[in-house]
Amino acid sequence: MNIRDENVLRELNLYPLWVRRDTSAADAPEVSAPAGEVPLAAEVAIKPAPRQSESGSTSTLNWPELKQTVHDCTACKLRAGCTQTVFGVGDEKAEWLFVGEGPGADEDVQGEPFVGQAGKLLDNMLAAIKLKRGKNVYIANIVKCRPPNNRTPEPDEIANCMPYLQQQIALIKPKLIVALGKTAATSLLGRDATLGSLRGTLHDYHGTPLIVTYHPAYLLRSPAEKAKAWQDLCFAVQRMSE
Ligand code: SF4
Repeated sequence: MNIRDENVLRELNLYPLWVRRDTSAADAPEVSAPAGEVPLAAEVAIKPAPRQSESGSTSTLNWPELKQTVHDCTACKLRAGCTQTVFGVGDEKAEWLFVGEGPGADEDVQGEPFVGQAGKLLDNMLAAIKLKRGKNVYIANIVKCRPPNNRTPEPDEIANCMPYLQQQIALIKPKLIVALGKTAATSLLGRDATLGSLRGTLHDYHGTPLIVTYHPAYLLRSPAEKAKAWQDLCFAVQRMSE
């Protein structure tokens, strides 16, 4: 392990207790767990996800058309209170898609998802599994406009904005979706559940595997949960290696 890797794990509050074993292409993927902890279930039954509301006007859009449509959108009340829409960022052919809840104050100003402290932690989480923002990774949110005072988006706001994310997913065709936080997970899966009950399970989003982990902003407030997030990332890497 080099100095950078150690720094990443320290940032995640994991070093030196939790270290993912490096695997070669010839090796079966394997994740190490601290003594006394039960590894995550490898695979469970994939449940069909209910189809979200789908706008006929967005489901045929290409990237430039979709970006312009989101830019011009005033379909819900969030647009009146934000600085700009935050479309998403990254590799438009990425195998990894990370989905958060919605823009915060920094994202609203900069027009990019996951900047600021939560973004820095997400970048470190990506680095811990040898990923990098923009390189085989796309990052988006459930809603494209900042909710006032960072409140949770309301159901009608999610319903209005979801067709944009659906079309992003249709264009990207990721191999795996990582839902960051309960709002992202329940919105994509179309059912209410606790985040704890959704973790450690391989879900299905209309044919695309989906896993659930904590939102980086929550991890900043609850650093003790970072070890669980690391478990989830290892689960994701394991799934991608299969
Ligand atoms: Fe449109 Fe989504 Fe912004 Fe609402 S949150 S105005 S649906 S882009």
